[in-house]
Amino acid sequence: MENVGKLNKKFKKWFVCGLIVGSSLVLSYNSFFRKKDNAKKDLITVVDKSPTYSLDEIQKNKEALISYSMTDAFRYGVINSISDYVKKAPHLSDTVDFSGDLSQMITYGYYQRIDGKKQVVITHINPDTLSIPNLSPKEKRMIASFAKYHNAETKRGAIKAHEFWHQNTNPDTQNNDMFILSDITKRGVFEYNLTTEEFAKICAHDEIGSRINSLLFLREQYQQEGKTNIFYGDFAFYGKAVRQGKINPLSENPKDIEQEQYFIVKSMLEIWEKKHKHNYQDYAIKKLTSHKPMSKGQKSEYDKALDKIYTFIWDGKLINLNYISEGIIPDVKLTEAVKDAAERRQLQEQKAEPPLQAKALQNNGR
Ligand SMILES: [Zn+2]
Repeated sequence: MENVGKLNKKFKKWFVCGLIVGSSLVLSYNSFFRKKDNAKKDLITVVDKSPTYSLDEIQKNKEALISYSMTDAFRYGVINSISDYVKKAPHLSDTVDFSGDLSQMITYGYYQRIDGKKQVVITHINPDTLSIPNLSPKEKRMIASFAKYHNAETKRGAIKAHEFWHQNTNPDTQNNDMFILSDITKRGVFEYNLTTEEFAKICAHDEIGSRINSLLFLREQYQQEGKTNIFYGDFAFYGKAVRQGKINPLSENPKDIEQEQYFIVKSMLEIWEKKHKHNYQDYAIKKLTSHKPMSKGQKSEYDKALDKIYTFIWDGKLINLNYISEGIIPDVKLTEAVKDAAERRQLQEQKAEPPLQAKALQNNGR
C-alpha cells in the first residue's frame, strides 16, 4: 500500500496533463464501443420527422440524448444521476502502452470531433513490461500498479464524468437535427455571444465545471459506499473535509447542503487558480482563434454561459452553482499570456471588419 501511495504522488503530474483537451494520440478503436456507436446511429435514423410521433419514437429520441447532453438526458428523465449517465453513455476507447517512461505524456480522456462527430475518448493504460529489456522486478511492479491505478473503474468513471461535462456544455449541435424534442440544448457555451476576454474565461470555467462534475461523480460513489479514500488528487480536500465533519454529503438539512455546494465551487476555483491555469494557457490561446466576433448591439451572454457550465445534477435535482455572476465567489483571473492573446484576437477581429466610420473615410479618400 505504501508503494502505491508513493507512486500516486509521482503520477499526479501526469494526471494534471491528462485532462487537457485535445491530443495527437492515434486512436485504436475498441470494437465494443464501435458496435455500441453503430447501434446508436441506427436508433437515430428510425426517428420519423412527421409531425406526429408514437410514444415509442419519442422514448427512443429521449434515449438518444445519452451521448448528446447529460443535463438534457436528465431533464427528459432517461438518466437520474451523473453515475447513471457515465454508465450508459457511449464513448470510444484508446489504448496507450506504458513502459515506465516517466516523461511520457498521457492524455486520460478527451472530447473532440472525430470523423465528423464529437466523441468522448477514454484512455486505457496497457502495462507494457516487454518492450524494454532488463526491467527489474520493482520496475515491472511499478508499471503494473500504475496501470491498475488508472484503469480502476472509479478513476475511469471520474474521467468520464469530466469529459461528459465538456460534452454537456458543448454538445454536438451540428448533428442534432434528428431530435424531435423541443427543449434540448441548441448551442454550446463557445457559441454564446462573448467578448474575447470572456471567451478565454469560459475556457477556464469549462475546465473547472468538468472537474467539479468529476468530484460530484465521486460524491455519488461516497453516498453509496461511504468511503472517503476515493477522493484522490485534487479532490482529496473534499474527503478530508468529510472526515473532519466540515461537510456532510448525506445531510438533508438545506443549510448543510448550501454550505457544501459553496465549499465545492469555491475550493475548485481556488485549486484552478493555484495549480492549473498555467497548464491550460496554450489550450486557451489556441481556442481563441475560433472566437466569433460579437456583432453590434449584441449583449454579452457571459452570465448565461456560466449558468450553463455550473448547473449540475445534485441528489436528483438540477442546481445552479454559478456564484460568480453575483460576485459571491471571485471570477478567474486570466494569465498575462492569455490576456494578451485575447487582446490580440480582439484587434484582429476589429481589423477584419472595420467600423462604419472607418469605412466612410476610406470611401471619401477614393
Ligand atoms: Zn477538461
